[in-house]
Amino acid sequence: MASPGNQMQKYKCPCGKSYFTVNRYHDDKGPFDEHWEMNCNQCKQCYQLSSFLKETDREINEAYLWAPINIFSELAIVECQLHEAQNDALAMARELYLERWILHCCRGQTKRDIWKNLSDDGRREPGFALFDSLVNDLNMGHYLKDYFNYLNLDYILKKLRVRDLRLDGMRSRAADLQRRLEKAQGLMRMEGFASQSEYGR
Ligand SMILES: [Zn+2]
Repeated sequence: MASPGNQMQKYKCPCGKSYFTVNRYHDDKGPFDEHWEMNCNQCKQCYQLSSFLKETDREINEAYLWAPINIFSELAIVECQLHEAQNDALAMARELYLERWILHCCRGQTKRDIWKNLSDDGRREPGFALFDSLVNDLNMGHYLKDYFNYLNLDYILKKLRVRDLRLDGMRSRAADLQRRLEKAQGLMRMEGFASQSEYGR
């Protein structure tokens, strides 16, 4: 078992002429954080530190790599456009359909009826116990407004039987951007540099 503190290690940089440094911090349960720093002037011009979530058998961790700068910039731009497209679509949907959604859910008399409307008879999250405790914390109106978010939008529009070409157009633009983002993320993982051959040996 590692003792608390930090440990610094030098690894060869992508061009191979110099190095980057990784500081690993750990407490008595093991490593909990890393800090990467590029020490090669040439690679500093071409790479940007990036991170993504990596799933192993036991947990999900943040993993780091040096992303080529063109891919890193593409990712940042697409991510920004995607958020904007989702926010625009959500804002319009809320303006037009939030009230209808609340009425739809509240057709039921009891809390359980409302939950059934909202969860497609229990086929969707949240389960009743979670729903119940969230509603107790927030009150029903507040909860139903919060539920009307981009992740649930598909389901909500389907439930309300909404046909709205303008909104469909906005959502399909967001879906295109989502695909572009995933492609750029895949490219970053493929082209990114995370090799850890020790420097100076
Ligand atoms: Zn280098």
